[in-house]
Amino acid sequence: MGNRYGLSRTIPEGIKREVRQACGYGCVLCGAAIVEYEHVDPVFADAKEHSPDGIVLLCPQCHAKVTRDFVSKERVKEAKAQPISQKRNYAHEFFDLGSKQPSFVLGGASITNTPIPLEIHGYPVVKIEPSEEEGGPVRFSGTFFNSHGEISLQITDNEWRAYSGNWDFEAKGGELIVRDAPGSISLRLRASSDSGIVIEKINMRVGAYQIIGSTDDLLLKADDGSKIQCGGMIADNCRIGLSLG
Ligand SMILES: [Zn+2]
Repeated sequence: MGNRYGLSRTIPEGIKREVRQACGYGCVLCGAAIVEYEHVDPVFADAKEHSPDGIVLLCPQCHAKVTRDFVSKERVKEAKAQPISQKRNYAHEFFDLGSKQPSFVLGGASITNTPIPLEIHGYPVVKIEPSEEEGGPVRFSGTFFNSHGEISLQITDNEWRAYSGNWDFEAKGGELIVRDAPGSISLRLRASSDSGIVIEKINMRVGAYQIIGSTDDLLLKADDGSKIQCGGMIADNCRIGLSLG
């Protein structure tokens, strides 16, 4: 259903990306990274086109405050000029993985009950630690880099930060997606108490290594020309799953 100018509610993907980039991937008011798109200038009822200049990212909570007149449209326009995620350099949110140790799947390698599923040069890239209190949440931490070796996503005890320097970042449908260029995904990560932690796609450069993986295949390439291909690996009850370097 469109507005009185026949403009559809559906914002084209390219326009959404421009809005995400301009807002630094977070709600312009609070910096939360799970967001909705809101026409502010002009409002949707008066919009004749979907212009990235007139649309902002708002989290559901801030969006509700604006819709119910607890936050003014003027305040949103001010925030749009200086989005908080651009100032902080990241947008943030939390994972909720429940209290049981989640499984970890990377490129067909299934790693369970292993506190450090992936380490490089002795540095834990992914870490899963038990809760600090009985029945509390397990603690997932990790550092992810894009295909050029720049940090894209940092996770510390379930709190995640997606950096504004990414070419594109999206949190939707239970997935975090980092793109380095059009059509070039460097990370697609799903993490929930149902699915565990699944890296559905990765193209990450760490030091002298390039890690390229899909759901069934993982290729580890070193700059010295050595290569390891692993698919279908299973690790259970180890201290470390995959160790490079
Ligand atoms: Zn917000």
